[in-house]
Amino acid sequence: MDASASAIGLEVLREGGNAADAAVATAAALGVTEPYSAGIGGGGYFVYFDAATGEVTTIDGRETAPATMPTDAFIDPATGRPYPFANAVSSGLSVGVPGTLATWEAALDRFGTESLRDILEPSVLLATKGFTVDQTFRQQTLDNKARFAAFPDTAELFLPDGDAPQVGSVFKNLDLAATLRTIALKGTDEFYAGPMADEIADLVQEPRKDPASPLPAPPGFMTADDIAAYEVLEQAPTHVEYRGLDVYGMAPSSSGGTTVGESLNILENYDLSADDIGQSLHLYLEATAHAFADRNAYVGDPAFVDVPTETLLSQDFADARACEIDPAQASTRPVPAGDLEAAGCAAVALDEREDTENVSTTHLSVVDQWGNAVAYTLTIEQTGGSGMTLPGRGFLLNNELTDFSFSPSETDPNTVEPGKRPRSSMSPTIVLEDGAARFVVGSPGGSTIITTVVQILMNRIDLGMTLPEAVAAPRAAQRNTVNTTAEPEFIAAYAGDLAPFGQPLVPSGDQFTSAAQIGAAAAIEVDSSGLMTAAAEPVRRGGGTGLVVEPAG
Ligand code: GLU
Repeated sequence: MDASASAIGLEVLREGGNAADAAVATAAALGVTEPYSAGIGGGGYFVYFDAATGEVTTIDGRETAPATMPTDAFIDPATGRPYPFANAVSSGLSVGVPGTLATWEAALDRFGTESLRDILEPSVLLATKGFTVDQTFRQQTLDNKARFAAFPDTAELFLPDGDAPQVGSVFKNLDLAATLRTIALKGTDEFYAGPMADEIADLVQEPRKDPASPLPAPPGFMTADDIAAYEVLEQAPTHVEYRGLDVYGMAPSSSGGTTVGESLNILENYDLSADDIGQSLHLYLEATAHAFADRNAYVGDPAFVDVPTETLLSQDFADARACEIDPAQASTRPVPAGDLEAAGCAAVALDEREDTENVSTTHLSVVDQWGNAVAYTLTIEQTGGSGMTLPGRGFLLNNELTDFSFSPSETDPNTVEPGKRPRSSMSPTIVLEDGAARFVVGSPGGSTIITTVVQILMNRIDLGMTLPEAVAAPRAAQRNTVNTTAEPEFIAAYAGDLAPFGQPLVPSGDQFTSAAQIGAAAAIEVDSSGLMTAAAEPVRRGGGTGLVVEPAG
C-alpha cells in the first residue's frame, strides 16, 4: 500500500478516529495515488470486526451488471464468439455499476465516527497538491499506454505530452480533487443520482474513443437508473476454525471467503511444518486446487444462484475433499468438483475453466486502539480498469464485468445475468483468537488473492515464519490447473522439494505486463500483549507501507 495513503489513515487513528474511519480515509487516498487499482469508479469488499460486540460484519460493495445486460453480452455479434479478453476489458460493456462510494458511506454510517465530508478532505488536498511519481506508477502507465491513448480523456490525464509521467515528477489530479470535493460537500447522491450518474451512463453507452484507434471498445448497457438503484449488501461473513483460530472472510458474491475457508479446512487434516517443507507445500497446492474446483463449480452471486456456502465451509466437506488428496503425489488436474451430497470420497466431473482475472486492486488492513479491525480490498479490476476516464472527473471506470464467464451456460454459476454481481476472488480476512483480532490480511491479484491469503496464513501459523517473513516469502498459486504458477524465487527455492511429489511449476506472469509477482499483501498481527506488527510488501509492486501510531522501541 502507498505511503501517503497509509499516512492519511494513520493521522485519522492518531486523532482518535476508529478503524472504519481510517480505512475509508486510506481508501480515498489510494484512489488518488493508485488510480489504476482503486477509486470511486470501482467496487470492493469491507470486513469489519467490532471489538465491543465481538461481531464481524461485512459490506459487499461489488459492482453489478446493468438491468438490461443480456446473458450473451460478451459474445461478439460479428463473430458469434466471445470477445477476445483484452478487447472486452477496454470497453463500455465491461463497466459494472460502481459500489465504492456507497461502501464508504455505509462503512462510516455503520461503524465509523466521522462524516464522509471530513474523511474525504485529506484526499482532496492530496489530489490538489499531487504525489511523487514512482517507478511502479510510471511502469503501470506505460503498460497501459496503447489503450490509454485510445481514450482521449484518459490520455489527457495520464499521458500528458503523450508519455507516462516521469519518475520523480509530481502528479496532480485537479479533476479528481474537484470531484471528491463536490461529493464531500453535496453527498454521494451527486454520484448515484446526480450529474455524474448521467455522465457515466453516457460514457458506457458511447465510449469516447479516438476514431483512429483500432480498439473496438464495444458499448455497454448501463443507464442512470442502474446507478441510482445501486445498493451495498450487509451480510454475514464466512467463518471457519483453523488451528483454534476463527477465520472470517467475505461470503459470495466473492469466492474469497469460501475458497480460503475450504482450503484451510482441508489443511486442518495435516500437520504442516517447515521441517518437511516439500510435503507441506505439496499439501498446500493440493488444498487450493480442490477448493478452486468447488469454487468454479458452485460459487456465483447468491441472489441468482444457489450457492452451497454452508457446505463449502463445513469441516466434513473439507475432510471428504482431503481424502481425495494423495499426500505423496500431485493430483491429475483439473480435479473434479466435490459432490455436495456424498459423504466420504466422491466427485463429479468438471472441465478446466480459463481464469482471466488480473492483477489490479489494492488491499488495506487497519486495527485501532480499541481493537476494532478492518480488512478492505477494493479494485477497478484490471490495472487501469476499462481504460475510460469519466470526462473532467479524474477517475477511471472499472472493467469488473469481465470477471463474469463470457460464454453463457446454465451450469456455470458465474454466467452474466442482468443485475448480477460477477464472482470475485477478493479475500479480505480477519482472524480472531479468543474473540480478539489477531491477524488482518488481504491482497490484490485476481484469483491468486485466494492462494496468497492461504499461503500467508500457513506461513505464519504453520511454518514458523514471522508476519513480515510470511508476507515477503515467495509465492505459488495452484488454482486447479495442470501447472502451478510460481514466482521465480519460489521455483528457485522449492522446485527441488516439490519434485518428488510431481508438482510442475511454471513461472508466473500476466498478459498486460511482464510482472512475475503474485499478489501485494498488507497484513497486521496483534500479539497477546496488544503489540501490533504492520507488515507490507518489501519488494512486490515497488513495496508497500505498514505503519503504527506508536512504534515500539
Ligand atoms: N476483479 C478481481 C476480483 O474481484 C480483482 C482484480 C485483481 O485483484 O486483480 O477478484
